[in-house]
Parts: sequence; structure tokens; C-alpha cells
Amino acid sequence: MLANKKSLKKFLAKKKAKGGCSHDEFWIWFVKGNKNETSKGYYFAMCSFCDHYWVNAKLSKLKTHLAYKCQKVDSDTRIKVLVLLTNDESDNDMASTSTATNQINKILLKMIVCCNLPFALVEHSFFQEYTKALHATYSIPSHWVLSNTLLDQELA
Ligand SMILES: [Zn+2]
Repeated sequence: MLANKKSLKKFLAKKKAKGGCSHDEFWIWFVKGNKNETSKGYYFAMCSFCDHYWVNAKLSKLKTHLAYKCQKVDSDTRIKVLVLLTNDESDNDMASTSTATNQINKILLKMIVCCNLPFALVEHSFFQEYTKALHATYSIPSHWVLSNTLLDQELA
């Protein structure tokens, strides 16, 4: 767990050191088309994994597609995008609600989505026993909270 967190931080630090914004790097996963003049300057974009396309490509939509919806993206890329999404969010609400529990929930959510695990896993007694053993004060969000509230937050 700790080792993972460290490598995640390293990964993110590297991104920032390279000259900030991950947006340009993000475009390696999409074919960027012409600017669509009729719609606030968004670009046409096509997913290079599954050929899904957007006439008005908002970065958040593209990220969400790769992170949760794309059927053909490889799992390495999916994880990278999920990390970007999580990073975006923690940049946004740095001062407010970035509690340890929030972080843990996000990591849990990421694992469940990336590994195609059922949300119901968190309610299994063996899993609860496992997390209790890790940290006595952390209480796992319910299946409902996880799939409705947290996932919505990630997708927002
Ligand atoms: Zn796709």
C-alpha cells in the first residue's frame, strides 16, 4: 500500500516536472481533428483504441471514456488515465475535503474499476475483515455509496 502510494507520487511528480500540464501527453491516446468553430473551439477527437469519436471533444469526456467506458483500451493506459483523473481532482479541492479516507476510497474505487471487480466485494465479510486488519478506524463505504456517490464524483 505504502509502496504503491510512493510510486504513484513519483509518477505524478515526473509528469509535473516535465513541464506541467498532462493535456498534451493525453492527446497521444486520441486522434485530434480540426477545431470546431461552431462550438466554442472544441476539437474533433477520435479514440485511438476503439474509434469512438466526439465532434466537441471536452478533455473531461475523453478522460472519462478511457477510464471507464472504452472497451478496447489496454489496462496500463486505463490506469494512467484514472491516475490523471484522481490527480485533477485532488488539485481542485486541495484545500477542502482531501481527507485520508477520501483518498483511500478513491484508491479502492480505482482498484474495483480497473480490475473489473464487483462493487459488492466491499460488503463481503472477508474483504471487511481484511480492511479492518489494515486499519481499525477506516470504515469501508457501502456498495451503494461506492457505486453511486463516489463513481459519480469521479465521472463528474
Ligand atoms: Zn475508446
